[in-house]
Amino acid sequence: MPPQEIDIRPVSHLTTDAIGQPGKRVFYIQAWQGERTITLIAEKIQIQSLAVGVEQFLAELTQRFPDLPEASSSYVEEKMHIHPPVDPLFRTGELGLGYDAEDDLVVLIAREQVAEGDDPNEADVVRFWCTRSQLRAMCHWGIEVTSRGRPVCPQCGEPMDPEGHLCPKKNGHQRQQLI
Ligand SMILES: [Zn+2]
Repeated sequence: MPPQEIDIRPVSHLTTDAIGQPGKRVFYIQAWQGERTITLIAEKIQIQSLAVGVEQFLAELTQRFPDLPEASSSYVEEKMHIHPPVDPLFRTGELGLGYDAEDDLVVLIAREQVAEGDDPNEADVVRFWCTRSQLRAMCHWGIEVTSRGRPVCPQCGEPMDPEGHLCPKKNGHQRQQLI
């Protein structure tokens, strides 16, 4: 099958979300175009790096185009949760960013993860065209979602599972022995 290339221009909504138990959450990127939803699987680290990358990218745009109004980062949480059907098109490999100055639209480019040795040109590609504010809001929400994982152990700084935590700072002793 030739690789699919999907351009959603523009998206009506763009978001990210996580589903599952803390520590086992799966992260998604989802865009809407009217009634249609396009969903991709992503890694938590990809959402976190994207948030950093987007801020740098927007700062560069402001330097290149000083007259651009500031992009808003505000979002309404109820609108940011993923909508069914959660039927992901693919697992995201690379994420890239681009800009169309004429329409003042940014594009988030997601490439399918390919197995080692496979031709990267065979990867499916989705391009989410959105406003700078839509992208920034998605990233700010993404930072919030990624930080809502497992609580961090005050002793060692590692995440704690709901079932308990073998803390290396306590030599792995989880509870005190009963006498
Ligand atoms: Zn610990």
